[in-house]
Amino acid sequence: MAASLSSTAAGRHAALPSYAGLRRSADASPTVVLLSNVGRSRPRLPQLVVRASKSSPKLPSGRRLRVAVVGGGPAGGAAAETLARGGVETVLIERKLDNCKPCGGAIPLCMVGEFDLPLDIIDRRVTKMKMISPSNVAVDIGRTLKPHEYIGMVRREVLDSYLRERAEKNGATVINGLFLRMDKPAGPGQPYVLHYTRYGGGGAGATGVPSTLEVDVVIGADGANSRVAKAIGAGDYEYAIAFQERVKISDEKMEYYKDLAEMYVGADVSSDFYAWVFPKCDHVAVGTGTVIDKGDIKRFQAATRLRAGNKIEGGRTIRVEAHPIPEHPRPRRVLDRVTLVGDAAGYVTKCSGEGIYFAAKSGRMCAEAIVEGSEGGTRMVDESDLRHYLDKFDKTYWPTYKVLDVLQKVFYRSNPAREAFVEMCADEYVQKMTFDSYLYKRVVPGSPLEDLKLAVKTIGSLIRANALRMEMNNLTG
Ligand SMILES: Cc1cc2nc3c(=O)[nH]c(=O)nc-3n(C[C@H](O)[C@H](O)[C@H](O)COP(=O)(O)OP(=O)(O)OC[C@H]3O[C@@H](n4cnc5c(N)ncnc54)[C@H](O)[C@@H]3O)c2cc1C
Repeated sequence: MAASLSSTAAGRHAALPSYAGLRRSADASPTVVLLSNVGRSRPRLPQLVVRASKSSPKLPSGRRLRVAVVGGGPAGGAAAETLARGGVETVLIERKLDNCKPCGGAIPLCMVGEFDLPLDIIDRRVTKMKMISPSNVAVDIGRTLKPHEYIGMVRREVLDSYLRERAEKNGATVINGLFLRMDKPAGPGQPYVLHYTRYGGGGAGATGVPSTLEVDVVIGADGANSRVAKAIGAGDYEYAIAFQERVKISDEKMEYYKDLAEMYVGADVSSDFYAWVFPKCDHVAVGTGTVIDKGDIKRFQAATRLRAGNKIEGGRTIRVEAHPIPEHPRPRRVLDRVTLVGDAAGYVTKCSGEGIYFAAKSGRMCAEAIVEGSEGGTRMVDESDLRHYLDKFDKTYWPTYKVLDVLQKVFYRSNPAREAFVEMCADEYVQKMTFDSYLYKRVVPGSPLEDLKLAVKTIGSLIRANALRMEMNNLTG
């Protein structure tokens, strides 16, 4: 969330080199991206869209395009629902139907509307947020939220089951199984053969039955350790390790967090990320992450608990969880009739570590491209159909990823820079731009005068930060 400052002054006017993995489309942003323009639609000449008529073979009558979605998190659930609704024969394979994905579970408001999420699956509606600096200066950053606006807090076991069950209601077949590997098609138009262990509902620990499944298309929605990605030689990505504890605190202490989330920055809690206390139904999720000092994750977690101090004191840890977070997209995201979505593809934003919305959106966009390319499941698709999804995703979100990447580099590099970052967060204009871009995944046009004032302020903060750093270096020799 912190980094939803994406649309604001930080790094404004910075020249942004091409971002690893995500392809910058020809008509996306110019070489110099004005952050205030990110997401703004630029005037375009009317375009003549020429679509070649489909040359892929029509499937025999009575047979539909068969798609396997491997993994039933937000990416897989959203993909399977869209495919099934679009007339495609859809199988979703999930290894653990009660999976509690380690996750802060913060989702933007637009996700609730776009994915038609019922309010009862949202544990808390956060309307207040505190950003806390290395020297424990706390800035309230939710002041510009309108009365109906909030950040949703979900438990992933609840959200993921809901999306999977909805996919099932719309016609997808959900299999409780562990995907192992797949055989490539023996020739053009031939099926992929998926090998998996089928469980009788007892979860990944139960004895399973070796099984196979023939499909035309495979979507890898199996998260950061994706086996589908390995199967297509998608290549590796840099990753952060994130650690989280679910801490049950007293009702009185919970009252403080009922609609409040906290984010801590500082070298004590992470060298390159932020730490958080997010409220859930009857507990708080306390966690942190790091890319560069993975071996220190437990020390960072201990420091996070110390910083939260007596607000969580006496709490009982009911769950300890850790998981990798991808840092950038994989070098390859499609091969023939196999593609990747969500964390399997590497769609988590830097700086904020946000991935739930992008997982669900990529799953849905991918499925839409398949439904369209197969004309409602009646034709075979090929790699070019899957590339439509990648083009659309990259074009829509490339600037967001890029800006958050820059923000992380500018503001998470030292404690003085973090102090400057928190100071900047006190600005109402920054807050408005931040929340608008985070909650709605779009950037409202900024005010040129406010933009200028903010740029001057930011530069001032950074100069002060650098001056402070030099002073500290002098003091420590
Ligand atoms: C500690 C932590 C905190 C985070 N906090 C936030 C946050 O607050 N907000 C936010 O937006 N993002 C957050 N993220 C990122 C977010 O969790 C991910 O981006 C998101 O879960 C990606 O969804 P997905 O569907 O792509 O993958 P996943 O959620 O990882 O789902 C993959 C699914 O595939 C299944 N699977 C895996 N392998 C197989 C297999 N071989 N066979 C069958 N099934 C398989 C898994 O069981 C799982 O259900 C956080 C991440 C971490 C680690």
